[in-house]
Amino acid sequence: MNATPENASIARIGEVLRDHQSFVLISHVRPDGDAIGSQLALGFSLMAAGKSVRLINEDGLPDNLAFMSGSDKIELPPAEPLDVEVAIALDTAAKPRLGDNALHAASKAKIWLNIDHHKSNPSYGDLNFIDSSSPATGQILYQIITQLDLPLPAETRDAIYVAVSTDTGSFQYPSTTAKTYEMAADLIHRGLNVGTLNSQTYDNHPYRRVELMRALLNTLELSADGLVANWELRDQTRIDLALLPEDSEGLIDIIRAIRGVQLAVFFEELEGGKIRVSMRSKDKRLDVCRIALEFGGGGHALAAGIRMTGPLEEAKALVLAAIRRHIEAAGL
Ligand code: AMP
Ligand code: MN
Ligand code: MN
Repeated sequence: MNATPENASIARIGEVLRDHQSFVLISHVRPDGDAIGSQLALGFSLMAAGKSVRLINEDGLPDNLAFMSGSDKIELPPAEPLDVEVAIALDTAAKPRLGDNALHAASKAKIWLNIDHHKSNPSYGDLNFIDSSSPATGQILYQIITQLDLPLPAETRDAIYVAVSTDTGSFQYPSTTAKTYEMAADLIHRGLNVGTLNSQTYDNHPYRRVELMRALLNTLELSADGLVANWELRDQTRIDLALLPEDSEGLIDIIRAIRGVQLAVFFEELEGGKIRVSMRSKDKRLDVCRIALEFGGGGHALAAGIRMTGPLEEAKALVLAAIRRHIEAAGL
């Protein structure tokens, strides 16, 4: 395990969960399957243990994850701070990525727990459990829940599976280990329906997502040496296709999959003028988290992101230049 030295023991986390009654669980802005899945997984386990639990996300529940059972428990942050004893940040690399409204909603909490798998996580909780060797926060929660003998209801079981499946590219990325497959097997033994869940996760995209793919392909660029592929999403396209934020989730894998490409980049204009940059690497020597950190972003060695100021052309020039420096330093 790649745990940072300041990690709490699972037993200590168990004490905090046992000794308190009210919890708010929060995940990062623009939540993905691991973010929402982690909230549902731990949330329903704690509820089954008789705790009072609120599940808050700055951006609410995205449409593409509304199939997850129990997902109607995910709420937008209430205006007034919640009366809760414990706040738990899940799958969130840095505290500001929880969002201002969510942070305000949790501001009365006496104890902060931070459970995550991003290696750039600075351990901002009172108690931290950061395991960057884990492919998903959902897998860490499986370990915590089973080790502490907490309840594992159907909502928790399915949410763990979706969290891990979406963060591993359907159990494909190198972070997937025997432990991951053993966990999946155990969840199936507990009654999980693989076919149904995978179909709901992967075979149920809105048509506009495929239209988005067409628009992105029109912007595709490949570097002269074939190592870097990038594409971009403009505001106008978002408007024309009536896109939702989650529509672009995972599309970067299409250009990551090009033979010879070692680094894929997705530039996206966000409402309000900020630029979202997603990066994926296929080579451990090319650590995209280090590139992201140069711009105030973060993530993992092979998948990282940035939110930076625009305009897009400027952000693109800066990030592509940094990538070039890292490629040269890595001797690729
Ligand atoms: P994405 O490209 O948005 O799917 O993100 C890839 C990974 O990097 C995910 O694990 C994110 O949580 C993380 N990440 C994305 N954007 C940021 C950011 N601005 N700061 C820190 N981590 C990020
Ligand atoms: Mn995530
Ligand atoms: Mn994750």
